[in-house]
Amino acid sequence: MKGHFVISLDYEIHWGVFDKRTVEEYKENLSNVGKVIDRLLALSDKYNVKITFSTVGFLFAKDKKELFDYIPINKPTYLNEKLSPYPLLDGIGNNENDDPFHYGLSGVNKIQNNGNHEIGTHTYCHYYCHIPGQTIEQFDDDINSAVSIAKSKGIEVKSLVFPRNMIDAHKPSDKPLLNVLNKHGITSFRGKENSFIYNIHTTKFYKNWFILKLLKFLDAYISITGPNTYDVIKINKSSKVINLPSSRLLRAYSYKFRMFEPFKLKRIKRAMTHAAKKNEMFHLWWHPHNFGAQTDENFSTLEEVFKTYKSLNETYGFQSETMTGLTNKIKATQ
Ligand SMILES: [Zn+2]
Repeated sequence: MKGHFVISLDYEIHWGVFDKRTVEEYKENLSNVGKVIDRLLALSDKYNVKITFSTVGFLFAKDKKELFDYIPINKPTYLNEKLSPYPLLDGIGNNENDDPFHYGLSGVNKIQNNGNHEIGTHTYCHYYCHIPGQTIEQFDDDINSAVSIAKSKGIEVKSLVFPRNMIDAHKPSDKPLLNVLNKHGITSFRGKENSFIYNIHTTKFYKNWFILKLLKFLDAYISITGPNTYDVIKINKSSKVINLPSSRLLRAYSYKFRMFEPFKLKRIKRAMTHAAKKNEMFHLWWHPHNFGAQTDENFSTLEEVFKTYKSLNETYGFQSETMTGLTNKIKATQ
């Protein structure tokens, strides 16, 4: 199998950051998400690149009534109650016209109508699987809601991105999470990079949180952890639910560190080239709201990435696929 280029975007608007920032504090980024979706669709059409939009279930609702219709009885009982979005629902608007920060059906429809991309799930309520207090039954009910609301719009959800990447694919303790995905017909998920700096919760280095954060930051510009590309057939030999691990977060353009932007791009191009030559997968991800500020600069970086893809496609047969498209190819080899 040839190498593959996979992009997954955590499409969430305010539901991905509600516990960290208010709408007011992040308004520029959040209010431009609709325009960012339009530009993503146009640019990916130009270079024939496929994207998986891993979408929070709340965004599928046309209004508050529909959002409430799909709320599970078993909501997450996090010990830290601030992590639950449910108490916020009373204060949101009635529909996307009233409140474009908490609804997103028009964006979902545009992606669906484009026809070249995949709509996957990012859980119904931006569910945190590793937060104490929640249970596997609650996760099961959340996924049921996510799959059901998508189905009501004619969308069959087949792939998932765990909010805040809370999945340790190799740990037996997370196996029940994958069993839930399998039960609901979800065939793939985005795992984390292998390097320990991306697995801080699972390492004894967790106490040196600042150093790890710094290493992750530096790794965006210079190679600390290598290309993070994967032989996806080898790592999924007998998996029911396919792990398509992340290769790289596409960090938003930083005015402060703008002199290092060329290094960021070079690092991505090198890893893509490595994947294309070795017939491996390069999996890039970010959030549409990351492009909501300095939008032109961010799209200019992305266009360079897409040009690299085009050239690797012509030279090595490197292929763009959605998460489910690649999963189907992997499954055909099992
Ligand atoms: Zn998220």
